[in-house]
Amino acid sequence: MQPLEAVRAARALLECVTPLNRDCGGVCGGACCQTDEDGQGGMLLFPGEEALYDPLPTGFHLERDDGVAPGAWLLTCEYACDRSLRPLSCRLFPLLPTRKGVKMDRRGWAVCPLMDSGVSGLRQEFVDAVKRAGAILYACPEQAAFLDAIHAYNQRLAQF
Ligand code: SF4
Ligand code: SF4
Repeated sequence: MQPLEAVRAARALLECVTPLNRDCGGVCGGACCQTDEDGQGGMLLFPGEEALYDPLPTGFHLERDDGVAPGAWLLTCEYACDRSLRPLSCRLFPLLPTRKGVKMDRRGWAVCPLMDSGVSGLRQEFVDAVKRAGAILYACPEQAAFLDAIHAYNQRLAQF
């Protein structure tokens, strides 16, 4: 499967299902969508996903960000977006697929109150959808390499 095809399929699996049975944004005030000190928020795009933001919808900005994976695109937003436009990273959060299943995304410790309860505290339908999305992504070498880069970054975070 080509990278864009894989990302489209993974996004479709996570179009409607969310981490809790209720809107988890009500728990934290939508912390993962809050802007940073520069007035920006956002998530890294998976390989090929940038094609889904051309033309760029109002309120989004795209820039290169090498912090996690060389040449990756960072999509920044302005706190709110149409749900159908959410990038895959936002749909997966606060989980991250692994080669064998899922784990909590360490980057979530900075913002997400769901981190404390771990995978077992999340809606099973959401966990299963992330696992299925992960199986699709890991079958694509470009997506697998990107996920490996995120896991490596998270390992570095764990050392602090
Ligand atoms: S920070 Fe966590 S609890 Fe809050 S909206 Fe994001 S995923 Fe949900
Ligand atoms: S793209 Fe949408 S879901 Fe993702 S952080 Fe921005 S406002 Fe939140």
